Amino acid sequence: MIHINHDHTLTLENKILLMQEDARFDVADPQLSYGTTQSEDESIPDPSMFQDIHAAQAPPKVPKIFLSNKCIFNCAYCGCRASRDTDQRYCNTPSELAEIALQQAKDNGHGIFITSAIYQNANYTEEIIIETLRILRKELFYNGYIHAKIMPGTDPHLIEKAGQYANRLSVNIEVAQNAGYERVAKQKNKENILVPMQHISNLVRNAKQYKSNGNPILAKSQTTQLMAGSTEETDRTIMNLSKALYKKYNLSRVYYTAFQYVQEAKGYELPFTSTPLWRTKRLYQADRLLQLYGFTPEEITPDKVPNLTESMDPKMGWALRNIHLFPVEVNTADYEQLLRIPGIGLTFAQKIIRARRYGKVTHQTLRRIGVVLKKSTYFITCNGKYEGGDILSHPELLHQMFTEDSSSKEK
Ligand code: SF4
Repeated sequence: MIHINHDHTLTLENKILLMQEDARFDVADPQLSYGTTQSEDESIPDPSMFQDIHAAQAPPKVPKIFLSNKCIFNCAYCGCRASRDTDQRYCNTPSELAEIALQQAKDNGHGIFITSAIYQNANYTEEIIIETLRILRKELFYNGYIHAKIMPGTDPHLIEKAGQYANRLSVNIEVAQNAGYERVAKQKNKENILVPMQHISNLVRNAKQYKSNGNPILAKSQTTQLMAGSTEETDRTIMNLSKALYKKYNLSRVYYTAFQYVQEAKGYELPFTSTPLWRTKRLYQADRLLQLYGFTPEEITPDKVPNLTESMDPKMGWALRNIHLFPVEVNTADYEQLLRIPGIGLTFAQKIIRARRYGKVTHQTLRRIGVVLKKSTYFITCNGKYEGGDILSHPELLHQMFTEDSSSKEK
């Protein structure tokens, strides 16, 4: 039986405004941002930065609905933490939350993300989330997309129940090194996060088996959120961890945030330094290089340069460190080689392969199929022809040309 101390002093509108604020601390969905535009959420990648690296379209936004912002944990970076001095705490009942979620789903049209701070304890919070999911599916007959958050330390039987109603589940790993938990999220640890992550992975992998036991599993994927800058970890450490997580837990996506310290957090060793937001942008780019382009963490962040830089995208950085591999002949290069050419992403690599079926690819062909040669022209030959002058003998000039001016860009 779920019993909630209901705060009647906050109106629905007040709660929704507070949910918008709480959503800034957690991005584990491509879409998010409850009621905000994508560009207003610093943690969400701007699709324009993937022009070269990932030709995906901007994902739709999914509103994020909070059960509660009253947390028993005290993570230094989070506005829901126990030690935060605020009287603006709320906890919805499952019926209220389901009604809010349904309304938001109708308004938004792309689904909903149901999450929460840890209210009283992990299992209790998860039970309320599950009851909300049940009401949505069984009483309100909502058939759209639901992403549900799993609390750290949740018992396997509750994860299974959540998986019967939600399409996607996630538990946030948060930090890149164990030391990070003690530093910024004292009540979290590797075990209370990785054990649920393993259960979600098993659930998703063995969905058919659960189905045959009479409990259909809807959950098809899991994601996580990883924060940069909670310790002095390098980007190479983050890339290695992401690679391991994708492999071991079959994650659909790792989402990156930058550690931000906004208001005083009691119980921590201060001072904290916030991580610059450009780091998240570079991590998203590096992540796509790992997942879609066949790069390894060692290639993106080699021993001598273990950190991504603000001034250059990681693919260009790799190309300039490996200038001896260029120019690449677009008529004979295989798909993987084409993907490594600066300025050519997934879509154009595929278009080039298709264009080769109908004859030799020239610079004119590339222009016709839409390749912007501003970058790629220095790294390719078309049927033996090179249009980049003698710049490959002067890589330092390429370096200057493709160094991004951080002062003129959004950070
Ligand atoms: S567990 Fe930590 S990050 Fe999650 S809501 Fe509570 S304080 Fe915030």
